[in-house]
Amino acid sequence: MKFADLGLSPEVLKAVEETGYETPTPIQEKAIPYVLMGRDVLGTAQTGTGKTASFTLPMIDILASGQAKARMPRSLILEPTRELAAQVADNFEIYGKYSKLSMALLIGGMSFSDQDSKLDKGVDVLIATPGRLLDHVERGKVLLNGVKTLVIDEADRMMDMGFIPDVERIVSLLPPLRQTLFFSATMSKEMRKLADKFLLNPKEVAVSPPTSTAATVTQGLIMVQKAEKRPALRKLLEKEEVRTAFIFCNRKKDVDILLGSLVKHGFNAGALHGDMSQSHRMETLDKFKSGEIKLLVCSDVAARGIDVSSVSHVFNFDVPTHAEDYIHRIGRTGRAGQEGHAYTLVTKSETKYLDGVQKLVGREIPVLPLDGMDEIAEEGAAIAEREKGSGRGAKKGRRRTNDDAPSARSPRKSASRDEPKSSEKSEERGSSAQDEKPKDRKPRRPRQANDDQDTPVVGLGDNVPAFFKIPLGKTAQK
Ligand code: AMP
Repeated sequence: MKFADLGLSPEVLKAVEETGYETPTPIQEKAIPYVLMGRDVLGTAQTGTGKTASFTLPMIDILASGQAKARMPRSLILEPTRELAAQVADNFEIYGKYSKLSMALLIGGMSFSDQDSKLDKGVDVLIATPGRLLDHVERGKVLLNGVKTLVIDEADRMMDMGFIPDVERIVSLLPPLRQTLFFSATMSKEMRKLADKFLLNPKEVAVSPPTSTAATVTQGLIMVQKAEKRPALRKLLEKEEVRTAFIFCNRKKDVDILLGSLVKHGFNAGALHGDMSQSHRMETLDKFKSGEIKLLVCSDVAARGIDVSSVSHVFNFDVPTHAEDYIHRIGRTGRAGQEGHAYTLVTKSETKYLDGVQKLVGREIPVLPLDGMDEIAEEGAAIAEREKGSGRGAKKGRRRTNDDAPSARSPRKSASRDEPKSSEKSEERGSSAQDEKPKDRKPRRPRQANDDQDTPVVGLGDNVPAFFKIPLGKTAQK
C-alpha cells in the first residue's frame, strides 16, 4: 500500500514525501482511513511503530477546514511526558508544513505567558501533558468545549504514572460529541475499561510488538566478569567508530556510576534517568540530539519514547532482564536502513537473561573477541579489589574509588526532585513544578516507578521502528 491510497490530501502527501517515507507502516495503514472517516479508534501500538503519524497525518486533514477561536482549541493531544509531547509537536510541524494550522504545546518548564498568548490567538492543535493542561484550565486560560478531536496517547503509561484521574477530569470537560483516538502499547483489561469510558463504537487496530531485530544492526556479545564491565566498555568505545551511542544500564545506580567513570576517563558522556529534573533531562537530550554529547548513559524507562536518528551504536552495559527491552534498545540504532552496532556485556550471572533474549530474537548472538582482554582483566581485578575494600554499595563508610567521578555526580544529586520516588509525574510539571501545582490535586505515586529504585528496570521500552523489522504479514488486526 502507498500513502496515496490512504485518502490523505495532496498537502499532507507532499510533506510525507519530503520526509522520505516510502510506505505507510502497519499502524498507519490500519488507522488512517478510519481516522479520516471520523471514527473513534482504539489502537494497540508502541512508539516506534509510526503511531504518531497515524494520528497526526489524518488530523491535519480533518482540521484543514474550520477556524480556531480564542482559548478554544479544536483538537487536543494528551501525552504522558514533555519529551513525547514535544516530539508530537515536531511531527505536526513536519507533516503540517503545507497546511496552515496553528499549534500550542502546553508542557511544564515553559513560561505560562508564552503559552497563554498562543492560546489567546486560537489554536487548531493543542498538545499537552495532563497536569499542565489542568493548570491552564484552572486559571481560566483554556476552554475545552470546542475540542472535536481528542487523542489519548500512551494510555498505559499515563496509568503507570498516575495521570488517569487528570485525564478523566479533562475528558469530562470536553463535548461528548467528538472523535476520540486512544493509543496504548498494551491492551489490558484495565485499559479496555478505560477506553470504554472514553470511546464510542471504536474501530480497533493493533500491531504486534516487534520480536525481531533489524538486519542492518551488527550484534555481538562480550563475555566479562562484573568488575570488568567498565574497562571492557571503554575498550569497545575506543575500538569502535562511535558517532553517537546509547549505553543502557538496568539500574539507576549504575547509570550514575558509569557516567562518572566515563567522564573521568575523558569520554564525552551525559545521562538520563528519572531522578533528574526535567529541564536537565531536556538539556541533555538536546545536546545528545545535536551531537554535543556523544554517549548517553540511560535506563530503559528514562529513554522510553525518545526518538533520535543516526545513532551509530547501542551498548548494553547490562543484559536487560526483560527480553523485549533488548529489541527496544537496539532498535535505536540501524534505523531507516542505516548501519548500526549493538554490543552487550554479559556476565555469567546474566546468561539466564541472555537466553531469554536469544529465544525472543530467534537466534544466537555471536560472542565477539575483544582485544586487550588481559588488560581489561587486570583493571577489573583492581576495581573488584577496591570495591571490596571500599564496600561499594554499603550504606555507610563508602570510600571513593579511583574509578569514581564525584564531580559528575554531585550536580545531579541537587537536581533530584522532592518527590524522588515518583519523579516522573513531578517532572512533567517541570523544575518549578511545586509552584505550579494546584493545591487540590495531590501527586499520586505511580504504580511502577522502576526507574527510581535500584531494582532492575522493567518496562515495555519502546521506540523501535517495528516496521523495519517485521514483515507486514506478521501484524495483526482485531
Ligand atoms: P513513532 O512510532 O511515531 O514514534 O515513529 C517512530 C519513527 O518512525 C519516527 O522517527 C518517525 O519519523 C518514523 N516513521 C513514521 N512513519 C514512517 C514511515 N511510514 N516510514 C518510515 N519511517 C517512519
